[in-house]
Amino acid sequence: MSRKNPRPIPLDMAQMEGVTQEIVDRLTEAAQANANLWPKQHIHDSPSMEVLFRRAIFGTNVKGEPFKAQIIVFATTSYTGGVALNDIIPLSTPDFLIRAFIGHEAFDDGRQIPIIGLGINGYWTWGKLLKYLTKRREEAVAGIHSEIIHEMTHLRDVIKDQEKWKKKKWAHRDHEIRAIMQQIIHQVRQKIKRQPHSMTLFNRYDFAHVLRQLSPKYRKVYADLTPEGTYIILSGVHQALVEDGHSFERGKLK
Ligand SMILES: [Zn+2]
Repeated sequence: MSRKNPRPIPLDMAQMEGVTQEIVDRLTEAAQANANLWPKQHIHDSPSMEVLFRRAIFGTNVKGEPFKAQIIVFATTSYTGGVALNDIIPLSTPDFLIRAFIGHEAFDDGRQIPIIGLGINGYWTWGKLLKYLTKRREEAVAGIHSEIIHEMTHLRDVIKDQEKWKKKKWAHRDHEIRAIMQQIIHQVRQKIKRQPHSMTLFNRYDFAHVLRQLSPKYRKVYADLTPEGTYIILSGVHQALVEDGHSFERGKLK
């Protein structure tokens, strides 16, 4: 097991925060307009992608090479883009976000533009979407922000050896660990900002246990990680918190 200090890929958090707020503003406008006309109609009753919003986002990868990507927010009833029974979400799925990915959009002239795709639940009605975005805006922002952090980490990353990682399970892939770690660090920081008292949990319980309390993402993935993946994530979060000025008792990081 490698014991080098894992550090997250630096991300422009202000840029992503701005883009996230813009997405939620624009979705809210669309929801208002449509909910006025047909509040009970599903947003998009099909596994295809109904694009609700798109905008460019600029950045550089870790080697300093610039990229221009498109963020596409769409409604769909498919987890994967596929149409098989297993791909289609149940009608009663409560989730707002059901899909997030990076891919490429190909143009006739041969250009390929990277895209970040975010799929929202097409079975929701416009009325339900409007209610969610207005009454639970903070939750909507947190969900979208977290997925953009994940996908922007992939865009900034240099991901090699496709033949090797394709054979591994999702949560065992090195670049997924790097992206998941970013999401967890962000969730933990947000939680501590809103509830500073939650830092005291670290004095009472082991580090991994506290992370499960503070980060919904960690709670979701921890059982699927390898011991090395767990180590990388725990140390990355620990390092980020130390850099934020928090201190820990020795030996807490297990
Ligand atoms: Zn990923």
